Amino acid sequence: MTISPLAQQDPVVFRLIQNELHRQNNGIELIASENFASPAVLEAVGSILTHKYAEGYPGKRYYGGCGYVDEVENLAIERAKQLFSAEHANVQPHSGTQANLAVYTAVLQPRDKILTLSLENGGHLTHGHSKNLSGMLYEVLHYDIDPHTGAIDYGSLERMAFQAHPKLITIGASAYPKVIDFERVGMIARASGALMLADIAHIAGLVVAGLHPSPVPHADFVTTTTHKTLCGPRGGMILCKEKWAKAIDGSVFPGSQGGPLMHVIAGKAVCFWEALRPEFKTYQGQILENARVLATELQGLGLAIVGGGTENHLMLLDLRPSFPELTGRQAAAVLERAGITTNHNTVPRETRSPFHASGLRLGTPAVTTRGMREHEMKSIASWIWETLSSPGNVGLQENIRAEVQRLCQRFPLRY
Ligand SMILES: *Cc1c(COP(=O)(O)O)cnc(C)c1O
Repeated sequence: MTISPLAQQDPVVFRLIQNELHRQNNGIELIASENFASPAVLEAVGSILTHKYAEGYPGKRYYGGCGYVDEVENLAIERAKQLFSAEHANVQPHSGTQANLAVYTAVLQPRDKILTLSLENGGHLTHGHSKNLSGMLYEVLHYDIDPHTGAIDYGSLERMAFQAHPKLITIGASAYPKVIDFERVGMIARASGALMLADIAHIAGLVVAGLHPSPVPHADFVTTTTHKTLCGPRGGMILCKEKWAKAIDGSVFPGSQGGPLMHVIAGKAVCFWEALRPEFKTYQGQILENARVLATELQGLGLAIVGGGTENHLMLLDLRPSFPELTGRQAAAVLERAGITTNHNTVPRETRSPFHASGLRLGTPAVTTRGMREHEMKSIASWIWETLSSPGNVGLQENIRAEVQRLCQRFPLRY
């Protein structure tokens, strides 16, 4: 047996990675923004491409020796354009956050107005949160969600667009279980003279599979991560109309980044290849079906689901009706002891601080990637219900953890 160079040189880091692999392999991962990339993607990301400096763009680099990485980046760009039917793709953003900030700096001046969904209502930090650069640089206005249905209040979005005349409208979310009407937002943006950024970090996989309407025909800019439903390496990407190509490219480099992560861009190229396969559509369909079954089962057991269910890969549980004493934060901690990983989340008409919150966000991309289906969702729903019903019962948590482990061993990760 060959011992790995890492194990030999740095057994501490090696062991920590092994421990984390064991954790991933033996737990049920319901964090809606997480997924498991394929071994092929991991191989690309772990490759010697990490050595190469390639500031600039294919054919226009500031360093020599870029022939092969030019081909890699061009492949990623061409596949991204094909996948999303986009006019232009920039595959260099290191993350979804970098992608959003690059769009802002491409078209906004400090103190310009942006109209967005707040973090509390399911948006993202980069959509103008006061602790994020987007909230420090720009004047931020938020449209509402309907507190009863949890749906975006497009009427309020339209009113605010015409009253306040924001320069940019951002639409997209991290904790929103409904289909987004990009066409309608596009019409409002054009009619009110605003630019439109659609952030599909969470739903990109559903979009390429044709299972969620695409924003590409309607938005000036579309940003995404590549590591959520897209199932690729950790990273970001920007799609835009040709007329914005130059501004966007300049805003990413030299505007806000230095050398691109060529190993990650290779991983993105592999991810896009995988997403172009017909199997990817089946996989995304199963993510949706699993989410639907998980939500229906939890609801049947007595848990309140925000908006009455889910139309995508995630759902928000409102714990207050069935477990008024249990905060979201406590619920996530209790579930983790039973081997089920989730995250706490605010819910519409939230009564607690975001740190404690009254909701849990659950998503099905990761469990679907390892092959789980409707039957397994039913088991998971009942374990969640039992665990939350007696949060102080350590014996029960241990029993469920053992069952979780048995289930996981039937669906091993491929690493
Ligand atoms: C995850 C997410 C991002 C940011 O992604 P990072 O790669 O973590 O920076 C941006 N927007 C939305 C809507 C997201 O869900």
